[in-house]
Amino acid sequence: MNPIQMVDLKSQYLRIKPEIDAAIQRVLDSTAFIQGSPVFDFEQQLAQYAGSKHVVSCGNGTDALLAALMALGIGEGDEVIIPAFTFIAAVEVVALLGATPVLVDVCDDSFNMDVHALEKAVTPKTKVILPVHLYGQCADMELILKIAKKHNIKVIEDACQAVGATYTFSDGAMKQAGTMGDVGCLSFFPSKNLGCYGDGGAMMTQDADLCERLRAICKHGSKEKYHHQLVGLNSRLDTLQAAILMAKLPHLDDFIAARGFAAQYYYEALKGLDWIELPVIKENTTHTFHQFTLRVKEGKRDALKQYLAAKGIPSMIYYPVPAHLQPAYQYLNYKEGDFPVAEQLCREVLSLPMHTELSENQLQYICKTIVDCPL
Ligand SMILES: *Cc1c(COP(=O)(O)O)cnc(C)c1O
Repeated sequence: MNPIQMVDLKSQYLRIKPEIDAAIQRVLDSTAFIQGSPVFDFEQQLAQYAGSKHVVSCGNGTDALLAALMALGIGEGDEVIIPAFTFIAAVEVVALLGATPVLVDVCDDSFNMDVHALEKAVTPKTKVILPVHLYGQCADMELILKIAKKHNIKVIEDACQAVGATYTFSDGAMKQAGTMGDVGCLSFFPSKNLGCYGDGGAMMTQDADLCERLRAICKHGSKEKYHHQLVGLNSRLDTLQAAILMAKLPHLDDFIAARGFAAQYYYEALKGLDWIELPVIKENTTHTFHQFTLRVKEGKRDALKQYLAAKGIPSMIYYPVPAHLQPAYQYLNYKEGDFPVAEQLCREVLSLPMHTELSENQLQYICKTIVDCPL
C-alpha cells in the first residue's frame, strides 16, 4: 500500500500527465504567458460546464471575493454577513475594504450558514450576504436568496470548495454552486476539487454589466488600456494555469465521482461508531466532498488525530478557530460564546484523507484503524 496522503496531487498528475504536459508545452511554444487564448477558452468552457452566463478568471479565490465586493461597491459603513465557521478569506476581504464583517453561526448538521441567524443579523446597513458552500455542499440558497430579495441585498457565493455541486430549488430548478447569487467565487488552489498547479480563481455571474465591472476591476479598473474608470486590482489567471485547467475540467465529474466513492466507503465502514458523527448531506444539495469531515465527540478529537498520525494516517482540522475568535478580528468585539455551534465544531471536526486517488486498500486501512481505535 502506498503511503496515505491528505491530498495526492502527484498520482492524479501522473494519471493525466500526457494531456497536462501537452497543454503546458503549447503555452511554452506560444509564450503568451499573460492573457493568452487558453484563459478565454477556459472561461467559456467553465461557463458551459457550470451553466453560467459569464465567467471572469482571476488570480485566486480570495481575489475573486475581493473583486466581487468591489464590483458591488462595498466599502465603509456597509455590512456583509458571513458564517463564523469558514476559511478566513471572505472575512478578510470585507475588512480590507473598510466594510464590516457581520458574523453569524452555522447549522449543526450542514455546518453552513444558519438562515435564522442570518435573518436576525440583517440591518439597514447590510449590503451583501456571503454564504460559503463549505466542504463541497451548498448552503441553503433558496432561503438565503429569499431573504436577500426581501431586503434588497446582494449575494456573493463563496463556492471555492464546491465547484460542480448542484442545488435543487423547490420548483425543481437545479443550479450549480456559484451560479445562484449575484457573483459566485471559485478557487483553483491545487488541492481544490478543480485545482491548477499554482494559484487561480474565477467569478461567475449572470449579469452582463456586473461581468464587465468584474473584468475591469481585475485589470486595474480599466476597460480600455491606460484609461482607469475604477479603482482596480492586478489579478489574472496565468495562461499556463488556464491551459492546465482546460485539460482538467473534462475530468471534473470523474474527480467528483472518485471523491464520492471514497466518501461512500467512509460512510459504510464508519457507521455505528457512537463517538463519531459522519457528514450530513442535506436533501436539496449534492456533496462534492472537498473534505470528508467527522465530528469527533466525547472530547476525543485531538487524541484520534494523534492516534491516526501514529498509524501513518494524516488528518486535518478545518478549522481550529472560528472567525470571531481570531486575533486579527478582535476589533469586531465578538466574544467566546457568541456562536456556540461554530465554537463546538472547532473542537470536534476532523477531516480524513480525501482526494481522487485513494485506493480501496487505503480506505480499508483508514477505516479499520478508526474502528479498532481503543480511545
Ligand atoms: C480556498 C478558499 C478560499 C481562497 O481561495 P484562494 O485561491 O486560496 O485564495 C476562499 N474561501 C474558501 C472557503 C476556500 O476554501
